Amino acid sequence: MNASGLCDICGKPDVDHVCDRCGRLVCERHYDDGHGVCTECATELGLGDEHVDPDDLPNDVDIYRF
Ligand SMILES: [Zn+2]
Ligand SMILES: [Zn+2]
Repeated sequence: MNASGLCDICGKPDVDHVCDRCGRLVCERHYDDGHGVCTECATELGLGDEHVDPDDLPNDVDIYRF
């Protein structure tokens, strides 16, 4: 079966997945199988591990320094 469309993130024609959250078509590379969302949404929801913003750390927790 052929999905009609291009990956909304990288523009590749091989889209197999639809994001559960934003509904865009994404290719395998840009789909988070574990969460059923695209990598953009995964990042927004803090599910991805590719980008961690230090500012998101709670202020009341001391940061350990090695
Ligand atoms: Zn893609
Ligand atoms: Zn999404």
